[in-house]
Amino acid sequence: MAKRTSGHASAAYEDSLGAALIALRLVVVVSCAAAIGAMFYGLQRPEEPSVGTVEAIPYLTPSLAPSVGPYTPSVTPSPDPPIEPSSTPTVAVPRVGIVAGHWGSDTGAMCPDGLTEVEINLDIARRAVYLLQSLGYQADLLEEYDSRLQGYQTDALVSIHADSCEEFPNADPPASGFKVASVEDSMVPEAEGRLVGCLAQSYAARTGMYFHANSITYDMTRYHTFYEIDDRTPGAIIETGFMLNDRYILTQRADLVVQGIVDGIVCFIEGEGQ
Ligand SMILES: [Zn+2]
Repeated sequence: MAKRTSGHASAAYEDSLGAALIALRLVVVVSCAAAIGAMFYGLQRPEEPSVGTVEAIPYLTPSLAPSVGPYTPSVTPSPDPPIEPSSTPTVAVPRVGIVAGHWGSDTGAMCPDGLTEVEINLDIARRAVYLLQSLGYQADLLEEYDSRLQGYQTDALVSIHADSCEEFPNADPPASGFKVASVEDSMVPEAEGRLVGCLAQSYAARTGMYFHANSITYDMTRYHTFYEIDDRTPGAIIETGFMLNDRYILTQRADLVVQGIVDGIVCFIEGEGQ
């Protein structure tokens, strides 16, 4: 009986032990479940302010994780562009116009052998434009009645012509030399006076020719182009020489003629000859 009792007791003990073990297992299972749940919850929680969490996933850079965190535009509006200081000096490129006299209109004066004034003028004008451009200037090659001359507004305008091929046997001084003039009723007399002075001085220095002052005519001082350009544009007309007596330098040493004209323009633009 005792054995039974003990057996009973033993059985009861064993029952209670079994129940305790089950309870312990339950506790362990619940604890594990709770721990797993806690871990899971921890992983699934919304972002913590901790920097370490972000750093633990370095590959999730904001640009590659569009669903994480608040949306930030990839292109943030840039502030207004910096304003250039108004005191910054701007280097203006000088601009001048060169008219090839009679070009696009007529031949101008003509020699008995067919040499025309326009071909002399155009050769000189083209070379002058090329030389000015090589010096860094803007230079326009213009026809006698070029449409661009209406209201033409630049730093200077020079029209190139040559004198007649007639003999003038009684001329005193002889029909040789050059002359320069500006419009007779100038709106910018100081500037035009300086442009004429620069051209005359430089041209004489380069070519060795004389200023043939007493043959300046109304054709020069009332030259039509002076009334077409903007009246603030300093303008001058140069008669580079007489086609008969100065033929050699006009046709064979045009380089000196061109250099004299360009020197005069540079003298004026650079503020020399004051
Ligand atoms: Zn002419």
